[in-house]
Amino acid sequence: MTSVTKFWPILTATHRYDKSISTFNRGAGQIIEAPILAYLIETKNGRILYDVGCDYNKINNSAMRKKYYNPAVFDFGAPEMYESQRLPNQLAKLGLSTQDIDVVFLGHLHFDHAGGLCDLCGAEVHIQADELAAANPQDDPAYFDNEIIANPDWTIKVGEYDLVQGVRAIASPGHTAGHMSLWIELPHGAPIILAGDAADLTENIEEEIAPCNCWQNKTDLAVHSIRKLKNLASEEKAHLWPNHDMAFWQTLKCFPESYS
Ligand SMILES: [Zn+2]
Repeated sequence: MTSVTKFWPILTATHRYDKSISTFNRGAGQIIEAPILAYLIETKNGRILYDVGCDYNKINNSAMRKKYYNPAVFDFGAPEMYESQRLPNQLAKLGLSTQDIDVVFLGHLHFDHAGGLCDLCGAEVHIQADELAAANPQDDPAYFDNEIIANPDWTIKVGEYDLVQGVRAIASPGHTAGHMSLWIELPHGAPIILAGDAADLTENIEEEIAPCNCWQNKTDLAVHSIRKLKNLASEEKAHLWPNHDMAFWQTLKCFPESYS
């Protein structure tokens, strides 16, 4: 029996970048527009957010934008994010506030997954020990220094575990050292596996293509994780969702409509 009652994918920003960032050695020169998502899971034991999107101020305050999205080190350019897309404003559409979030589960610590933590005081924040240890802006500019050290309330986890009944953390390293995907068992229908950045696009899943910029260039590990998620999906008859695929996103229910 799952404890999940409802589930919402939430669009928090969009980002235009070279497709080769999502598909290793493929798509150079082709600009894609990618959704940046957070996922809200309501359960009988509280509410969980998988990822929290970007820090709004680093995108929309010109001094901060200059500092954090400096084109000399950050060649993707900043995402586009509206005030209405900040999580407190999105949660308000459901009559909720950030105080109603019990656990933030971060799949990894890149800017477009962990940046929104600054808007979510009070929640317990789950992160893997090896993700936190490896998150170094010197090695990977998609980590922003103050987002890694800013939260003194990490709940540090090692390996796979059940957050609650029906919500399971699945290890999928490669894109980053401690990357985690999330298994969600809904009250009705097939379970959903949120790949996170283990698979940006449907193409990553179908053609088993690693993302670019893998941790320590371990593209094999990233492909291994994609195969692991695909096998799990096929064994359990679950849907495997890519994370930054605009065409796929457009097939999903439109927030605040929920899955249940
Ligand atoms: Zn990432």
